[in-house]
Amino acid sequence: MLEKLAAAGMDVVRLNMSHGDHESAAEVIKAIKTLNRKVPYPIAVLLDTQGPEIRTGDLADELELKNGSIISISVRDSVDVESSSFHIHYDELIDTVNVGDRITVDNGIINLEVMEKQEDGIMNCRVIDGGILKSKRHVNLPGIRVNLPAITKKDRADILFGLEQHVDFIALSFVREAADIRELKELMGDQVGKIKIIAKIEDQLGVRNIEEILEEADGIMVARGDLGVEINVAELPNVQRRIVQLCAEHGKRVIVATHLLESMIENPIPTRAEVTDVANAIYEEVDAVMLSGETTIGRYPIRCVEQLVEIAEATESFKGLGFSKQLNKTHDKHHLAATAVDLAESLGAEGIVVITRRGYMADFVTNCRPKGARIFAFTNDSQTRRRLTLNRNLSAFRTAFSTDPEKTLQIAFDVLKTRVGLSEGAKVVVISDILAGSGIDAIQIRTLT
Ligand code: PEP
Repeated sequence: MLEKLAAAGMDVVRLNMSHGDHESAAEVIKAIKTLNRKVPYPIAVLLDTQGPEIRTGDLADELELKNGSIISISVRDSVDVESSSFHIHYDELIDTVNVGDRITVDNGIINLEVMEKQEDGIMNCRVIDGGILKSKRHVNLPGIRVNLPAITKKDRADILFGLEQHVDFIALSFVREAADIRELKELMGDQVGKIKIIAKIEDQLGVRNIEEILEEADGIMVARGDLGVEINVAELPNVQRRIVQLCAEHGKRVIVATHLLESMIENPIPTRAEVTDVANAIYEEVDAVMLSGETTIGRYPIRCVEQLVEIAEATESFKGLGFSKQLNKTHDKHHLAATAVDLAESLGAEGIVVITRRGYMADFVTNCRPKGARIFAFTNDSQTRRRLTLNRNLSAFRTAFSTDPEKTLQIAFDVLKTRVGLSEGAKVVVISDILAGSGIDAIQIRTLT
């Protein structure tokens, strides 16, 4: 299945650590490493932590919650509740919520209002929106700061596992402030910078502190599943757009996630609204669109990936929103990258060739969102190559670097002809610090020979 997903156009595999254990995750990583030896473009691995998440307890049988009925909730399994009640695993729940607050279960499907808090660890709630409750459902307390550590004990173990396994990205769930990312960096030690950090924005605090979070993280995931419950769902499009815009300004990667093709979990075709939602993310010029349930429990995983590719290709022919015009170029190299992009656009070049070791210049070029020209990054480092798969409009290759810059370039041009299909005579703009020697950045206009 991974092989088929890769052939359909998947670039990155997300390991959601809310599900499965280290053994099953290691199996997937091993399969991807094997696959990467034979696919034209390698698949990167993103480890996604569970985060400070609250869930309902185990239920012997499903529980029907009827609109208007009163149910009691306990915060510990050890407290016996009647069969018509259930547990929520968060010791401080009763102290955290107030009478009148909303508790949301199962991604907003079931909604409860707190009516009464008792001394014995039980509280009574009115069912506002009823439904069938199953075991271990996700609980949100919209607008309430949950007093759980940013990186839980389980997250810590999962992150260390990810470092051991050499994953390419770590996505930290429920990032509420920049300090959460700094804590992750401390845990990552010398892997900071090599493994890229994606901050998942999924509640009101994350939205409020987005600018300081952007300073610390390498990229953002607009985690619309939780976000759509934690904020007023009508605000979600504005919040998504603001985050994408800020990522463009700060030159950071951005992923739009969840419910992109939700109806395809069951159906072979998407709804018109889903197609338009995906297209909206493409118009916003995001780096990546992410599937979740569609490719895990869904009936049509391959068709979902193909569908995303088709929508992206169709939509990219239309002008994007151009948020990259607001890019803060904080580094001289960033200005140089922008010049290479301008040059490629005005020449109508087919590509921008970046020769890069750690991928920084490739990021700078990506941040300028070139129109028309594709970005071709050549690196001598496999990890850099894999993590560049997240960059919009970029194809990365691993090639040997020669002490003679001209030889390195010829190897790159051969790849463009044989693997990308560019013809002799095609014009490209080259940007690299190998051209002028001694680490001086330079730009050249070249014609493939
Ligand atoms: C989300 O909430 O949209 C999300 C991506 O997080 P997860 O799937 O890990 O709950």
